[in-house]
Amino acid sequence: MEFISQLNHTFNLGVTKPIGWRKGQLLALKRLMVENENAIYRALKADLNKSQTEAHASEFSYVLNDIKYFIKHLKSLSKPRAIGTPMLTQPGRSYLVPEPYGTVLIMGAWNYPIQLVLSPMIAAISAGNCVVLKPSELAMNVSNLIAELIPKYMDKSAVAVYEGGIEATTALLQQRFDYIMYTGSETVGKIVMRAASEHLTPVALELGGKSPCIVDDKTNMSVTADRIIWAKYLNAGQTCIAPDYILVTKKTRPLLIEALKKSVVKQYGEDPKRSNDFGRIVNDRHFARISGYLAAQNENVVFGGESDSKDNYISPTFVLNPDLMSDLMVEEIFGPVLPIVEVDSMQEAKDFVNQREKPLALYLFSQDNQTVEMIKQQTSSGTLCINDAVIFMVNHEMPFGGVGNSGMGCYHGKWGFDTFSHIKPVMHRSFFADMPIRYAPFTKLKSMMLKLATKL
Ligand code: NAD
Repeated sequence: MEFISQLNHTFNLGVTKPIGWRKGQLLALKRLMVENENAIYRALKADLNKSQTEAHASEFSYVLNDIKYFIKHLKSLSKPRAIGTPMLTQPGRSYLVPEPYGTVLIMGAWNYPIQLVLSPMIAAISAGNCVVLKPSELAMNVSNLIAELIPKYMDKSAVAVYEGGIEATTALLQQRFDYIMYTGSETVGKIVMRAASEHLTPVALELGGKSPCIVDDKTNMSVTADRIIWAKYLNAGQTCIAPDYILVTKKTRPLLIEALKKSVVKQYGEDPKRSNDFGRIVNDRHFARISGYLAAQNENVVFGGESDSKDNYISPTFVLNPDLMSDLMVEEIFGPVLPIVEVDSMQEAKDFVNQREKPLALYLFSQDNQTVEMIKQQTSSGTLCINDAVIFMVNHEMPFGGVGNSGMGCYHGKWGFDTFSHIKPVMHRSFFADMPIRYAPFTKLKSMMLKLATKL
């Protein structure tokens, strides 16, 4: 593919290395966002029926904040980082030099189609790389808009957009890149990793899976319910870190369900279909998939359950104690259906989580310190968020990424910069005072001195 050779050429010329170029590209992206704010909202509405408020918070201002962060920290992040130098290598200095990989491929998912390609791109450019963006074809309007705008604002010799579906992705993956960041499903994650292995290209895989939400007896129930409903129904449940299902004790379950119902009505009204703030399922295939999960659960639906295929609408729906072997409890839901599973204790909730793949996010609502400590110390997840959900994404200091089946590698803030950099260790020795003790022939005295010098 000719355009990749062009990007490699730009990189080899050193165009992307100066901090000035990186900053210039970030400012160009900022202009792109600000001057096309309404077009971005229109595309998100057309693809996902995202309300302007939601689009602003989770896509538009999210990307602007990222740009702001990197403009502020670019210089300090790019500087060599001093580290210690042991006695044996004195006199000398050691430090870490972050260097860009080269040309990186960034493949995004459709659910946050702006944020999921532009946020990694901001980190990759800040680290001094050339970038190929592959937006998801499922959010077609956003994909077309990105492909139209990026070449208008950014350096075409260093940033390219490649659009298309499975066939295009397959062709793209045959090319050699210096780094690949992929956001999407586990299945395609494996395809990406297999393709990358042909060229020994390092990857970051930002995947999904089921993110459990544990609700303890001891919690502030109404705030807990509001936060869960907000996090679950953002983008109609099509969020990789949305609470997938709830684990709650039998005793607290009735209270929780009442609070959750109240919160849905408070946030989306009696008929969420008429709410301007409630999204739609991205396409017919995903609508059929989620409807299929629901069809198998008829008698367990305790709230909602309405749908309209003409509009790809599925209402906020709660399912109580579904069959644990059903698709609803095995597959990632990625939609507005919320299973509520009863357990006897927090211990059992912890075991439930540990018997399954490591989640991208784990949520615990509890005011009991012992429970908090138990979940913190005895579970593993990409992120653990206590007494809230999804909101941790706004903290640039926190790395975002999965563990085990929910992915590998991370980004956001400094973490994204480091992901798209080879952190090159440099040891710079002096010719002054060359100690002969390491050179043969070894005498008893030399051995003794060596032992002393290598002792920590
Ligand atoms: P997907 O993996 O189905 O598709 C992503 C892209 O891969 C498509 O746009 C397509 O171009 C390509 N693709 C699909 N099948 C392919 C094949 N056989 N060969 C080559 N390329 C192929 O993912 P999706 O539906 O876009 O996203 C949903 C998933 O993404 C969910 O699991 C969700 O949890 C996860 N996700 C994760 C994050 C995160 O940050 N960790 C964010 C959003 C979504």
